[in-house]
Amino acid sequence: MTARPVYFIIIALLLLQAASAVTSRAPCISIFSYDSPPVEFNLSSYTGLEKYTWTSYGTEGVPIERLFWRAGKYPVKSITAGYKKIDWTEAAYHSLWYVPVLVTDNLDLKAWGYDLPAGPVFVETGYRPVYTIMDIAPTACEALGMPCENFDGKSLASLNASQVVVFYIDSLGLYRYMWADENKAVYNISSLGKPIAASSVYPSISVVNSAAMVTGVSPEKNGVDMWENRTILVKTDFDYAGESGIKALWIDGVKPPISMKEGIIRVPDGDGDGNADDEIMERAIQEYKNDTRLLYVHLKNTDRTMHLTGPYSERSLMAIQHADMLVGKFFEEIRPGTLVILLSDHGGHEIIGGMGDHGTLLPQDMLIPVFIKFY
Ligand SMILES: [Zn+2]
Repeated sequence: MTARPVYFIIIALLLLQAASAVTSRAPCISIFSYDSPPVEFNLSSYTGLEKYTWTSYGTEGVPIERLFWRAGKYPVKSITAGYKKIDWTEAAYHSLWYVPVLVTDNLDLKAWGYDLPAGPVFVETGYRPVYTIMDIAPTACEALGMPCENFDGKSLASLNASQVVVFYIDSLGLYRYMWADENKAVYNISSLGKPIAASSVYPSISVVNSAAMVTGVSPEKNGVDMWENRTILVKTDFDYAGESGIKALWIDGVKPPISMKEGIIRVPDGDGDGNADDEIMERAIQEYKNDTRLLYVHLKNTDRTMHLTGPYSERSLMAIQHADMLVGKFFEEIRPGTLVILLSDHGGHEIIGGMGDHGTLLPQDMLIPVFIKFY
């Protein structure tokens, strides 16, 4: 009889110990996937990510996609934390900007403001191409014989070109391109041949990806790693062109996604049809004929219709068809010795209300087509 309180005390002590072990575990998130070894984040390896803190559903934290991006675990199809599986397309469908699955400063997980089970996170990733948007600057550099260095990307072609033209069709991701091709809306673009599948950089938005395109290095290195940071901190292929005495221009609308001191031409919507792409292409043709050796041409309307009506709407198809027609006008003027590159900055996914968005690590946002043809 006297032993009873002793047992009780022992059990109580054991319970206390177990409880303190749970509450005092070192903050840590392990990220698993089938395709590569797990990556563990603790408070020190997490350093540097705090600056991406965002507030959503009353929670302050870093979007978990930042950890996936740093760990190289993308594109993301679903994630599983404890017993809870989150389909990423479904999550993005109900989100704007970032998916609100956040990592708090104590490395706890919150989804839409609610706690997710602690412990490892399993990420189901999709096909990740070896090519990226960071391959464009090195390709242009090599083709024009400019001495450039320190790229993260690799040149896609070894040749000498008299002129390089990069057509940048906003939001025409790989899946949207394939859909437009099936619907016979990209007659001119498809004449460039089969596209290479490539990856955008994160976040999959124009500001970040256009900087990666002209610098050939990652957002973390070039300084343009989020919508709010526009200042490019490293050399672009426009700087290299300047040093080599090569004329280079970026032709865009009045609000280009890229900030550079020189080389940008802002073309207004002269005929007031609500779309400056026709004027942009007209100006681009003029500059090409004026022997501009490195030319970037940014068409934007394909992105606008994607946001307003969704990536696979009738209006989106018409916008892609219109961009294709404008590209075709340029092709009529092509001279031998020209290297043509055509690509997009990101794709797009459906969101609630029949609209579209991008910016996530979804394959729909991250996979882009890259066409390359030497005339
Ligand atoms: Zn957009």
